[in-house]
Amino acid sequence: SIRVRFCPSPTGNPHVGLVRTALFNWAYARHTGGQLVFRIEDTDAARDSEESYEQLLDSFHWLGFDWDEGPEVGGPHTPYRQSQRMDIYKDVARKLIDGGYAYPCYCTTEELDARREAARAAGKPSGYDGTCRTLTAEQKQAYEAEGRAHIIRFRMPDEPITFTDAVRGELTFTPENVPDYGIVRANGAPLYTLVNPVDDALMEITHVLRGEDLLSSTPRQIALYKALIELGVAKEIPTFGHLPYVMGEGNKKLSKRDPQANLNLYRERGFLPEGLLNYLSLLGWSFSADQDVFTIKEMIEKFDVADVNANPARFDLKKAEAINADHIRMLDVKAFATACEPWLTAPHANWAPEDFDQAAWEAIAPHAQTRIKVLSEITENVDFLFLDKPVEDEASWTKAMGKGDPVALLTTARAKLEAADWTSPESLKEAVLAAGEEHGLKLGKAQAPVRVAVTGRTIGLPLFESLEILGKDRTLQRIDATLA
Ligand code: GLU
Repeated sequence: SIRVRFCPSPTGNPHVGLVRTALFNWAYARHTGGQLVFRIEDTDAARDSEESYEQLLDSFHWLGFDWDEGPEVGGPHTPYRQSQRMDIYKDVARKLIDGGYAYPCYCTTEELDARREAARAAGKPSGYDGTCRTLTAEQKQAYEAEGRAHIIRFRMPDEPITFTDAVRGELTFTPENVPDYGIVRANGAPLYTLVNPVDDALMEITHVLRGEDLLSSTPRQIALYKALIELGVAKEIPTFGHLPYVMGEGNKKLSKRDPQANLNLYRERGFLPEGLLNYLSLLGWSFSADQDVFTIKEMIEKFDVADVNANPARFDLKKAEAINADHIRMLDVKAFATACEPWLTAPHANWAPEDFDQAAWEAIAPHAQTRIKVLSEITENVDFLFLDKPVEDEASWTKAMGKGDPVALLTTARAKLEAADWTSPESLKEAVLAAGEEHGLKLGKAQAPVRVAVTGRTIGLPLFESLEILGKDRTLQRIDATLA
């Protein structure tokens, strides 16, 4: 059966590119009834942190991903953190050396740099030149006696490597472009170049789906895989598929350090996991020609790596928000109300927790649900219900009060609202409409000062429903305060 993996390194905040890769792997596993292995690539002690590891898990839980093997769930290939698998890598490195697939390289950085420069100057390929490929036992001894340190280098085959990428089709890499490469540091620490394919082999991964930035490591990994198969460590070379780059502002690759790339930003602004995943799934894939809003379940039913597009995908925040807005509308109103509550209670809200009024919130929620793109926008839409005084916004005042005589209008509107039947928004609308008629104003113009007096803003949720929910006393008080 199909086995895919996601294998992030815990180095900093998770970013949207990583989530897109995780999503495609997850969807492919679920679509095919295969398994998803979650592995933590934490062999770079200088860059990895426990905090990032915790953040990764937390983010993946929030997104709703689940995995069949890995941290928290275990599995037959435990442990799933590379920092705990060092003995395995040591053992494989030894087998590779003993089998002649890898060799100690004593070249110093200075020597390597000098030869690289010379090769460049001569217009020759500047990768590792193979100096230590054929050292005799005596030469090695001499270097050791000199006190030289050595790394372990993998010996690349001298013929081209061809493979069929699940996204890009057939690709060929010639030997000049893929020189021998380091797999173990001088201090004995194994490198990504070794541990990643070794674990893919041991964990019997059938499909490696990852970002295009890793394409250049694939011929190396395939060569290593062949060695591992000959050594009996691996069974089969997996299928590789490289997901397209994600482009950000100015058509530049979205980088990990780009603020737009930070997953936490989307979470803090109140994206729904489903909305965000829906959007991210469109970065390199499409659901159908005329539909780009769908549930994750629908995505899983349709998703196939073969349909991934090799062209770079453009990250478009506006579109992400529009899709998220559609997902907000798809919630049932109870779920919507619950999802917003973290924004309506401390520490996000600028009113005291005891001023939050659950009944008023539930009454206004259906009107708010159709208006917001991200959940964090809820506060500015409903704050008038929970604040003692509405926000004071000079710009709103000028805009709404600028024309006509707002004092006269508000005075009339207040009288009519006081006399109105407060059991329905219709009657409140009639009151403001009638007040407007007395002053020669259409409903839109007449309701603007009322809205500003009561909510502090020029735009917002349907006004008469808002007034009804706020209640007669508070509405009249606010108009009085404005007129005072
Ligand atoms: N740990 C690697 C990374 O985060 C994984 C690359 C791969 O998928 O092979 O870039």
